[in-house]
Amino acid sequence: MTKDDCIFCQIASGHIQATVLYQDDDVVAFEDLHPQAPVHFLVIPKKHIATLDDVTADDSDLLGKMLFAATEVAREKGIGATGYRQVINCRASGGQVVFHLHLHIMGGRDMGAMG
Ligand code: 5GP
Ligand code: ZN
Repeated sequence: MTKDDCIFCQIASGHIQATVLYQDDDVVAFEDLHPQAPVHFLVIPKKHIATLDDVTADDSDLLGKMLFAATEVAREKGIGATGYRQVINCRASGGQVVFHLHLHIMGGRDMGAMG
């Protein structure tokens, strides 16, 4: 998939509608279309990066900004204190479906232990 037909690039540019929770020059947070928990939103970089496997050292600040935006929005959503899960699916074996890097934030219920 190229940047031109990437659905999350189009959300970042405002060409496809999403319920945006936060945005700045570098990242956008928006509600997941098919929530897996009472709170489920995504944080993406505005820059097209296909997968976590494609990040470079130059993206370190950007990754930090994604994490920080996620924690800020989680607090605004009222799940900062109770807790939540953050997940990045990477490529086929990781269950990635949309090939633009995105961080899932899920909470609002007991997410249970992993495994
Ligand atoms: P993945 O499996 O790639 O980590 O997760 C992709 C996520 O993107 C899924 O949770 C899915 O519900 C969400 N998603 C896919 N298409 C859209 C869309 O057009 N808008 C929004 N808001 N979420 C989407
Ligand atoms: Zn993209």
